[in-house]
Amino acid sequence: MKREIDFKTMTDGKRYRSDDMAKLGCGGCKGCSECCLDQAVMIVLTPYDMAQLTKKTGKSFDTLYSEGRIRLNTVDGLILPGLGIKNGSTQGGNVLRESSVGTASSRDTCVFLGEDGRCSIHDARPDICRLFPLARLYEDEGFSYILQTGECPMADGVKVRISKWLDLPELKSYEKWMLEYHGLLTNVRAALFEYDDESMKQKINIGFLNLFFRTPYDEARPFFEQYKERAERMI
Ligand code: SF4
Ligand code: SF4
Repeated sequence: MKREIDFKTMTDGKRYRSDDMAKLGCGGCKGCSECCLDQAVMIVLTPYDMAQLTKKTGKSFDTLYSEGRIRLNTVDGLILPGLGIKNGSTQGGNVLRESSVGTASSRDTCVFLGEDGRCSIHDARPDICRLFPLARLYEDEGFSYILQTGECPMADGVKVRISKWLDLPELKSYEKWMLEYHGLLTNVRAALFEYDDESMKQKINIGFLNLFFRTPYDEARPFFEQYKERAERMI
């Protein structure tokens, strides 16, 4: 998902690679679920996230959708699934901000935030959750990680290696795939922009959603291989 970030004022001004150290420490998020509140409205899923989520929950896209665990968002013209939210839930909360922002009971939370204030799908959490408070800056046909400052209320300045923070089993393959997927999103959005015909836009959107999200991924086969096959069908 694209988000406007002022590189000078909202980051520490550095570009990182995954083997770099960055000031990501947050004391293990103890007692905090701030990034699972409110912002869940913006957590858009990738096909990789979808494959992980269906595997973790044992539920199909359609079941997750009918249960309100995922919902559809139009993001820069393209319909993409995002995490569901619970309105004004009493779950979760962050003592640091309750007094200034409102009580946790009045705030929206991600549907996957457990009663204990922890993520119930932690090992299958989406890319955006995995990154936070990092983000990706795409430029020069590649990307860097950037650190959004002032976003995590528990930030303690302790340096953590980015690869450790991301906690992904095949990080190099994942990064390569992420770059390809970003390129695909850019191309599909450009194609959508070209069409005036709303029915054609709808057709592209539904086709994209079915191909990369609704059609189940085979858990016995590598995700990246399956994605490649599907991407080739887009050409
Ligand atoms: S805001 Fe920071 S400390 Fe709180 S849950 Fe998110 S990453 Fe952890
Ligand atoms: S998926 Fe987990 S980490 Fe991400 S917003 Fe939901 S509860 Fe928080």
